[in-house]
Amino acid sequence: MKKISTIKEFRKWRKNISGSIGFVPTMGALHEGHLSLVSKSNNICENTIVSIYINPTQFAEGEDLDTYPQMVQADLDKLSKYEVDCVFLPGNSEMYPEGINVGNYDNNLFDILEGKSRPGFFKGVTTIVAKLFDIVEPTHAFFGEKDFQQFCIIKQMVSDLNYSIEVVPCPIIREENGLAMSSRNKYLTESEYSIAATIFKALESGKKLLKDGELNGDKLKREIYQIIKSEPAFTIDYVSVASGDTLEEFEGELSGDILVSVALFLSKTRLIDNFTYSSPDLHNC
Ligand code: AMP
Repeated sequence: MKKISTIKEFRKWRKNISGSIGFVPTMGALHEGHLSLVSKSNNICENTIVSIYINPTQFAEGEDLDTYPQMVQADLDKLSKYEVDCVFLPGNSEMYPEGINVGNYDNNLFDILEGKSRPGFFKGVTTIVAKLFDIVEPTHAFFGEKDFQQFCIIKQMVSDLNYSIEVVPCPIIREENGLAMSSRNKYLTESEYSIAATIFKALESGKKLLKDGELNGDKLKREIYQIIKSEPAFTIDYVSVASGDTLEEFEGELSGDILVSVALFLSKTRLIDNFTYSSPDLHNC
């Protein structure tokens, strides 16, 4: 497993790599969620490249850039158990040689859901992912459905900018109590960690309503809202029931692909989770 921290050295190494190349971009503090992406890349691609880089442009003022967990050696130990050909570990001077700045790419999904709560976030994400795509030149890139909107935006960016990359979605990996794995879970105290299990319970309850034929998005939201609110420690940012295709909030009856997503704070820790559901085609019933 090669470890490279400069673009120059990476490009030199990359020249000699042939066959399909799976790329897993991460911000480190790796957990089973990240590793499932690596494993999927191992299954699909002949080569796997992982990047670890905490991207400053996707953190807004007052967010956790300075405290974001960093544990590079532990990350490398975890990755060494997989078939990882190279870990790319650039610093800010490599990724932003002309200062911390964002690119021009824009997309109508930038300002809704996560983007509404975190202005500038997707500008930062697409800036760094585009830079990494240009350096790594993968054939496949793996993204977790935990960040469903991010996955949609990257897929759209790949199409808009004509990257020849297959963007592969990977399912959400959860802790035993149902909490979606996240590097930010490290911020949680033991009792917050137990409380956080309620998020999954609320989503499961919402999913059950859908399976039972509920077509009223407001009712679905209320159900999820109430279950989360039963834990006073949560501050809810949003509960959304949106189209899984356009990510636009549903008005009226639910149909087609549905994305149910939530964002909330537990103390200062921001947690997100979601599920997608395809409603049965009523015309075929
Ligand atoms: P991050 O290091 O948080 O930027 O995440 C890197 C990649 O791992 C992104 O594509 C995430 O969506 C994905 N990821 C993070 N947590 C999970 C999880 N619990 N299950 C699946 N993928 C995840």
